Amino acid sequence: MQIKTAEFVKSSQKWQECPEPVMPEYAFIGRSNVGKSSLINAMMGRKDLAKTSGTPGKTQLINHFLVNENWYLTDLPGYGYAKVSKSLRKDFEKLITNYILNRKNLVNLFVLIDIRHNPQKIDLEFIEWCGESGIPFSIVFTKLDKMKPNAAKENVEKYKAELMKAWADLPEIYVTSAEKKEGTDEILRFIGKTNEF
Ligand code: GDP
Repeated sequence: MQIKTAEFVKSSQKWQECPEPVMPEYAFIGRSNVGKSSLINAMMGRKDLAKTSGTPGKTQLINHFLVNENWYLTDLPGYGYAKVSKSLRKDFEKLITNYILNRKNLVNLFVLIDIRHNPQKIDLEFIEWCGESGIPFSIVFTKLDKMKPNAAKENVEKYKAELMKAWADLPEIYVTSAEKKEGTDEILRFIGKTNEF
């Protein structure tokens, strides 16, 4: 898919404030610093559409972008901040889970994972929750360029093995680098194939 236009629509504090669900929507989520803003910018061919976060815990809003005037890209707040209080973390979780469970036009959720790390409990728990809740989701590994190809492949396999402990079917998996613009076309192709409403 060619990106002709990409514009910021609004930031919402809760799912009820999100734009009318009149277009197919694709949301991106992951732990803070996973490379979400960079990936969104790389996909859109823009430098600063999504803000690169810097301060963990700062972006607690649901950000909507309208792409090609016919689908929404949603930048969700990161989960699993170590540095915020328990009650604030609960608020985040509620915001995210309510959005995911209630957003009628959500076609797919892209769950971002830093390829350099071993499978982390918080990501696995979130993925498990998506599966149990019947949420259509894919896994997107980020920062591929930061690893040697073989080591990257090994980590993806490790992740798959971990997921297979709980699930018979694996979700769609994308391996990306925002830096090198790798894997972004595959994600856009998937969106292009599925965004008929
Ligand atoms: P966010 O908090 O998930 O939005 O993460 P950011 O997009 O702000 O990225 C966090 C850090 O990782 C920044 O310093 C980015 O420059 C870096 N980063 C993100 N994606 C990549 C990538 O594909 N390759 C490399 N080498 N660095 C990346």
